[in-house]
Amino acid sequence: MYLKSLHLRHFRNYSDQLVGFAAPKTIIVGNNAQGKSNLLEAVFLLATLRSHRVSRDRDLVQDGASLGEIQAICDRALSPVELVIRLRSESRRTLAMNGVSVPRHLDFLGQVNAVMFSSLDLDLVRGSPECRRTWLDTVLVQLEPIYTSLLQQYNQVLRQRNALLKSIRQGGVTFDPQQLSLWDAQLATTGTRLTRRRSRLVQRLTPIAQKWHQAISGGSEQLQITYTPKFEFADSDTVEQVQQAFLAQIQQKAIVEQRQGTSLVGPHRDEVNLTINETPAREYGSQGQQRTLVLALKLAELELIEAIIGEPPLLLLDDVLAELDLLRQNQLLNAIEDRVQTIITTTHLGSFDAKWLDSAQIFEVQAGK
Ligand code: ATP
Ligand code: MG
Repeated sequence: MYLKSLHLRHFRNYSDQLVGFAAPKTIIVGNNAQGKSNLLEAVFLLATLRSHRVSRDRDLVQDGASLGEIQAICDRALSPVELVIRLRSESRRTLAMNGVSVPRHLDFLGQVNAVMFSSLDLDLVRGSPECRRTWLDTVLVQLEPIYTSLLQQYNQVLRQRNALLKSIRQGGVTFDPQQLSLWDAQLATTGTRLTRRRSRLVQRLTPIAQKWHQAISGGSEQLQITYTPKFEFADSDTVEQVQQAFLAQIQQKAIVEQRQGTSLVGPHRDEVNLTINETPAREYGSQGQQRTLVLALKLAELELIEAIIGEPPLLLLDDVLAELDLLRQNQLLNAIEDRVQTIITTTHLGSFDAKWLDSAQIFEVQAGK
């Protein structure tokens, strides 16, 4: 897949701008607040229908306009496809493909795949465990469409079980152990499916992330990623064995759960531990180390998606060179191969070597132009 062109109309600070991508590498250079991230955001929206920054379409439409539009032409293996997202400040967005309206988001997704890395992604290391769980979920949704419904099922069971625990705590219902154990069983069944998938994903991502991490950090640092559920199980365990371990842990926590009125065991409480040279990256990593780590995770995500869907997703790098030292900058830039279409933003071109500058297409952006 290759993004050939992007046409932004009344999107963020762009009034009307057509951008043609004539090389696999594009550098968008400009001062602060000129529209670099806005451009990447538009591409990311085509891939995910979500912004990495806001959730309201009103913010995406240019101030003073009522309709904003992102139009893109992508070269697919068989034929080019034209994609349009129309954003409205006062009503719902609409989607179209090759001039035909697409009512379901599901049918639009998958035309463009993209991996974005911006400073916001530092939350993957610095943020709460939820940030890391959400990351795994986002990757799994792209790789296994069924995962979305598994996640919904689990969250529904969790909400109901929590509601029951809460009313037990408040003394609102007479405690019926049988009713609770029904929810326990459902939580364990659906939760096991999520936990095993996430754990397998971490296992697949780990060697790729380690390879990238060594490449970017120059080989001196050892990255480890571990998926840590609230109960122990072995990879060789059957589904039933994992469910048993899950249930046993719920039973062990029964009194605390009823006292706190909430579910304490399950994938909603699992953690993904990231360590560099056996030290937790969250507490001890330097800015540059944390940035390197997130980059390695994102590049691993890219490679895994490529292996599974058969072609590389777009790589969107939003101002990521700024906090890397020269060695890491070069390692990263050298690691990006031409088969991966890359759009990278920067405030100055000084970080790029001559080879990059020669092969890349460079756009300067100034106030949305
Ligand atoms: P930095 O180097 O600081 O990251 P940037 O070039 O990435 O800057 P953007 O995040 O793309 O900057 O934002 C550019 C400008 O777009 C900002 O000044 C912002 O106020 C403006 N902007 C954001 N949303 C809208 C909107 N809906 N309408 C008009 N302008 C907007
Ligand atoms: Mg920016």
